[in-house]
Amino acid sequence: MTDDFRQEGARRVGQVKEVTSLANPIVKDIKALSQKKSRDESRTFLAEGLKLVIDALELGWTIRTLVYAKAGKGKPLVEKVAARTVASGGLVLEVSEKVMSAITRRDNPQMVSAVFEQRWTSLRDVAPSDGQTWIALDRVRDPGNLGTIIRTADAAGASGVILVGDCTDPFSLETVRATMGSMFAVPLIKATPVEFLKWKKGSGARLVATHLAGAVDYRTIDYRSKPVILMMGNEQSGLPDELAEAADALARIPQVGMADSLNLAVATGVMLFEVRRHLLKLDGAK
Ligand code: SAM
Repeated sequence: MTDDFRQEGARRVGQVKEVTSLANPIVKDIKALSQKKSRDESRTFLAEGLKLVIDALELGWTIRTLVYAKAGKGKPLVEKVAARTVASGGLVLEVSEKVMSAITRRDNPQMVSAVFEQRWTSLRDVAPSDGQTWIALDRVRDPGNLGTIIRTADAAGASGVILVGDCTDPFSLETVRATMGSMFAVPLIKATPVEFLKWKKGSGARLVATHLAGAVDYRTIDYRSKPVILMMGNEQSGLPDELAEAADALARIPQVGMADSLNLAVATGVMLFEVRRHLLKLDGAK
């Protein structure tokens, strides 16, 4: 949180709706965001937690509806977020614990949740440049894996995540939770395999695909001379041939022990920090 945010004096917000009923239509709409269909139709999603909501505001996101539990009333940071929400034309609800639990599907919900508009970046607008790493995920199915990968992408300084084929929804509650706020910082793109392969051809980037049958030790690949697209396979079936064949290198992480493979998010983390090893410094400079 920046000092700017702290110093922006707290002010009482007049336009707050108090809601205690689960039958309230706005509450029903927010609850429905646990369903992909509702998220797709409204192009919105729910994120929980005061810190996360403040981080989102600081990254330039706009809150459509802010929901806070009664316990948050009068807390300076909650009031500041409420004031910003009203100033940008959003709605503010003060709700009972019961309503907050129902919205977030948790017994011990966070004090604050917010509805944001979804943001997608178009693949057409992605032009990898030197020092950039883009992650491409083939049909990632597990929301926790996707959230962890987005969080790790943020931490490693990757430029964005391309969801190739039928992937789990990055805007589900579970994925958003697992990103710990990083989803507000990492551009997300979706593409069919055909669109992705066409884009890759003109991208000027090196496609490094990870594969259990990969012939190359991931520590021996040149990640410096071109931007890198790091491609990871589906949790169950790995990468299909059409994507593996388009790769400039098929990388493998050596393993010992009983496990057939690494968990997808773990493998992505291992790869990302190797791809970006020469760019990451302990002081956080990228
Ligand atoms: N049964 C799948 C298979 O045969 O590929 C296992 C997929 S694994 C759980 C998910 C993805 O993680 C793989 O497609 C690959 O991208 C990556 N992965 C996991 N372990 C790896 C390793 N040792 N080397 C390279 N990639 C690995």
